Amino acid sequence: MRFLLAFSFIASIGSMRGQAIAIDSHIDTLQWVLNDNRDLAQRAKTGHVDFPRLREGQVNAPFFALWVPTYYKGAEAVRRSLDLRDAMQRVLEAYPDQIELALNASDVERITKTGKIAAILTVEGGHQIDDDLAVLRVYYRLGIRSMTITHFRNHNWADSSTDKPAHNGLTDFGKQVIREMNRLGMIVDISHVSDKTFYDVLAVTSKPVIASHSSCRAISDVPRNMTDDMLRALAKNGGVVGINFGEGFLNPKDAELLKATVNAISYHEPDLTGHALDEYSKKQFFEDASKPRPSVGTIDDAVAHIDHAVKVMGIDHVGIGSDFDGISSPPKGLENISKMTSLRAALRKKGYSEQDVRKISGENTLRVLREVTGK
Ligand SMILES: [Zn+2]
Repeated sequence: MRFLLAFSFIASIGSMRGQAIAIDSHIDTLQWVLNDNRDLAQRAKTGHVDFPRLREGQVNAPFFALWVPTYYKGAEAVRRSLDLRDAMQRVLEAYPDQIELALNASDVERITKTGKIAAILTVEGGHQIDDDLAVLRVYYRLGIRSMTITHFRNHNWADSSTDKPAHNGLTDFGKQVIREMNRLGMIVDISHVSDKTFYDVLAVTSKPVIASHSSCRAISDVPRNMTDDMLRALAKNGGVVGINFGEGFLNPKDAELLKATVNAISYHEPDLTGHALDEYSKKQFFEDASKPRPSVGTIDDAVAHIDHAVKVMGIDHVGIGSDFDGISSPPKGLENISKMTSLRAALRKKGYSEQDVRKISGENTLRVLREVTGK
């Protein structure tokens, strides 16, 4: 039995070798590691991502988000970011034969060639730097290569798509943050920002940016999705949109529910710090995970968004940002990351060439990572 297990593991690592690079530009799996001490080498019954399912779905370069809820304020948000970075380190150190930290596109190529998973790290929310460029620089030194400018709420230097405008986009300090990210070689991620913040970012950035996990507003009209005009501007910038599979992002029938959920999330700001705040956050996490919200989205909806984005932006600007482990009800047919092979099959069936599928699956986002990090 033990021999068989070891054999099947080696066989599956072998099957990842020489595989095309497949990026998912947003997964929230670290929440399971931090809150549930999850062992990613084991196939879990809940959640959407672990090593076995990454291998089955032939996804070998996920962006692990270090997401900190916006009710973590100031230095508390920095502390929580470090807790998540530590959780990631524990995963990297437990399984050096299966996963390795990637700091640039060349690393992704080198690591995936050996059959291992290349982990790209991101922070999700500009509040996590506590208005301090030095914190941003330390994140870079800790191997973090992208930052989502906001989460569900505004912070001191940028407006979110799901809050009332407070700064009319990016403040002057916000513009400094973008320039510093360009200088360091960190990908600016404009998912979650308000439309005005998006255009302000594009006016300032000297490098391509990504929308790591957003979909098309023309199909599902929610503020987290991008209008066709925004998609065209992103393509002009050389950037990439990673299509989000979350309920409401894909199927307009779920959109109202998504809006209501976003309104409920993060508005409650408990007056807690330290361990008590972490316990509160953990409780919220398990409550959300135990009650999946109803959803009618399917794999066909995901294909429709990819197809729409390709029509508007061209084939070189569309990728995948599933939001797995951060969404409640994945689409039917795309229940977890192991089903990514079904999505690729559906794209081929729709007439996409093998080269097109490779671009959408990873090569487009890899190009941005290379342009931003310089290697
Ligand atoms: Zn998000």
